[in-house]
Amino acid sequence: LLSPDGSLRPTIFAEITALATQTGAINLGQGFPDEDGPPEVLAAATAAIASGVNQYSPGRGHPDLLQAIAEHQERFYGMALDPAAEVLVTAGATEALAATLLALLDGPDDEVVVFEPYYDSYAAAVALAGATLVPVPLRWPSLAPDLDELRAAVSDRTRVILVNDPHNPTGTVFSAEVKRQIVDLAHRVDATIVTDEVYEHLVIDAPFVPIATLPGARERTVSISSGGKTFRTTGWKIGWATGPAELIGAVTAVKQFLTYVNGAPFQPAIAAGLRLPDEFFAGIADTQRVRRDLLALGLREAGFDVAPSAGSYFTVADARPLLEAGEDAAAFCRALPARVGVAAIPISAFVSPEHHDEFSTLVRFAACKRTEVIDEASRRLAASA
Ligand code: PMP
Ligand code: GLN
Repeated sequence: LLSPDGSLRPTIFAEITALATQTGAINLGQGFPDEDGPPEVLAAATAAIASGVNQYSPGRGHPDLLQAIAEHQERFYGMALDPAAEVLVTAGATEALAATLLALLDGPDDEVVVFEPYYDSYAAAVALAGATLVPVPLRWPSLAPDLDELRAAVSDRTRVILVNDPHNPTGTVFSAEVKRQIVDLAHRVDATIVTDEVYEHLVIDAPFVPIATLPGARERTVSISSGGKTFRTTGWKIGWATGPAELIGAVTAVKQFLTYVNGAPFQPAIAAGLRLPDEFFAGIADTQRVRRDLLALGLREAGFDVAPSAGSYFTVADARPLLEAGEDAAAFCRALPARVGVAAIPISAFVSPEHHDEFSTLVRFAACKRTEVIDEASRRLAASA
């Protein structure tokens, strides 16, 4: 987790955002929106502060948010949850992931099957638990797993199959067949499914089907989400985990010693967000469709090969046609802010070092910015092509 000389290594997101700030580049790197969240949600946070919701919340979270999360799971996915036992509020999805992995894993013989490229905190949390990561590649250009490779990765040592659906950084939404296979495999080796669904409302072309709703999945699945992406409040760090009482109890046991509780006044505000009408949720997916399509067009015009993105904020592009001699995507992304005035993240930041070569020309662009910003980024990229 540290640099070879023992110093702190900033995450790729911090590094590229710092470069974007220094150069005044448009930041299509770190995935955060450039607009505030819905006014009802912002007002609910202010009202909570004004009315004195400023001390520690109860251990599992503010009761109103626990209730709203349960209502949300029922409303969108038909899953009835006990808010007192099957829901836990966390400091973002990041803490939910870390607490879940720390709760379930116990040393190097415990393996976590994960789709690679993967969100950077996964490898760090598995390392903190001292466990072993077993990557299954999502290869360009399909960016979908090969079922034989998935089957081969799962063994008696597999404690967790870690899913991220919709997937960061690829924009993949896993097919029904892949999800069924994951559930079958988890049964076969008695593994827990941990699913990170922070982009659940940013699925663009079809309704989202959480893996926990598949037959036989719910009793062995911890589902994780967050208000950050859905309500454009990434700085609030309100996330949650839902699942069977026993699993959520184990996650709570760890969470209480990581942060104890978090962000009291933001919790009723996220509850207000989760209760917004259906049009709000449909609207954010529609907006994302427009932005995704605009970005893909801009990238193609600039000479990139672009993989279709089905969800999340992200689109992956192959920069091979634009790389200078001897340059890989990591060097390209470090040069791009100064060269062109646009920032993006190399996919190699999301893969194990031994697999860098396979992903070395791929770049992730975040389309969570206003259309005029994506337009300007496209103009800059095209001008440099
Ligand atoms: N998982 C994925 C896939 C993400 O992209 C992110 C980044 N937002 C997180 C987890 C972290 O979410 P949070 O900010 O709620 O901790
Ligand atoms: N989830 C965001 C992304 O993937 C950023 C999170 C972070 O900066 N750690 O871009």
